[in-house]
Amino acid sequence: MRMVFLGTGTSVGIPVIGCDCAVCRSPDPRNKRRRSSLYVQAGGAHLIIDASLDFREQALTFQVPRVDAVLITHSHADHIFGLDDVRRYNTIQNAAIPVYASPGAVRDLRRIFDYALVDQPPPGVYRPRLEFAEVSAPFQVGSVAITPIRVPHGEADTYGFRLEAEGRSLGYVPDCKRMDEETVGRFQGVDVMVLDALRHRPHSTHMTVAESVAALRSIAARESYLTHMCHDLDHEQTQVGLPAGVFVSCDGLTLSW
Ligand SMILES: [Zn+2]
Ligand SMILES: [Zn+2]
Ligand SMILES: [Zn+2]
Repeated sequence: MRMVFLGTGTSVGIPVIGCDCAVCRSPDPRNKRRRSSLYVQAGGAHLIIDASLDFREQALTFQVPRVDAVLITHSHADHIFGLDDVRRYNTIQNAAIPVYASPGAVRDLRRIFDYALVDQPPPGVYRPRLEFAEVSAPFQVGSVAITPIRVPHGEADTYGFRLEAEGRSLGYVPDCKRMDEETVGRFQGVDVMVLDALRHRPHSTHMTVAESVAALRSIAARESYLTHMCHDLDHEQTQVGLPAGVFVSCDGLTLSW
């Protein structure tokens, strides 16, 4: 399994427009965070988890050669507004692309991308060809087994995903307020776990670094990564405070296992 962090920032991205805080002005490239998304290669399939607002630039910068399926965690703008740019892969692959999401997210996607669902678009109109699929139980993309796992995140019908292929596994939960015991149990045993850690101060719909670290300890993956971070968190300083095996992610970070 191979994965690339396409983006590791919260919804506004880092630097934040008009902000002159130390992290937004930082010369450390690890403090530049695009909107959260993951590119995963597994079992011969190329998947993206979420199509962020920065998707076009992410695909160019981190070289995503094809997209066999899109997994959507939830329908907040930072996770779906790159879906229009997936149309380039329709052309490259000469095929429609499946988009898997929760029933609530699919309802929103059908409304927002209604122009992409027209049967007979006018000649010359270049629209994405997306096949929205509601999922609420484990499913397969090629040889990759994918389990959607519901997590609390405000009003949004939100999933994390557990992926397994060729004896390797990955958990990805970029937006989540809390992890109860049952949810922790469903991710236990993964090789790599990636979890929401917005900032140190509490937030109504996201986990703090301390909450995230506590959940990651219980999940006990071989390696754990924090993501969806805001400009309160400097990469270097945040890393210093983390236990062994827990790391601050950054855009472009690539893992193979
Ligand atoms: Zn988000
Ligand atoms: Zn800032
Ligand atoms: Zn969200």
